[in-house]
Amino acid sequence: MRCPICEKQFEPSVSNALPFCSERCRTIDLGRWLGESYGMPAIPDPDADEVPEEKPPNGNGAASHDA
Ligand SMILES: [Zn+2]
Repeated sequence: MRCPICEKQFEPSVSNALPFCSERCRTIDLGRWLGESYGMPAIPDPDADEVPEEKPPNGNGAASHDA
């Protein structure tokens, strides 16, 4: 049968995430319809990179005193 996500032919007997070929594709499908229901684009808009990047709080491990 064919996976509805990646459209790859696969053997249903070897899949543990039917009707998808793998759990990865099942997760993608889940994220897809969740994203649609929330109205959020799955892929970030390439024009939206004007926002300043937030630095991770543990960038410089100043508090990593592991004694
Ligand atoms: Zn697939």
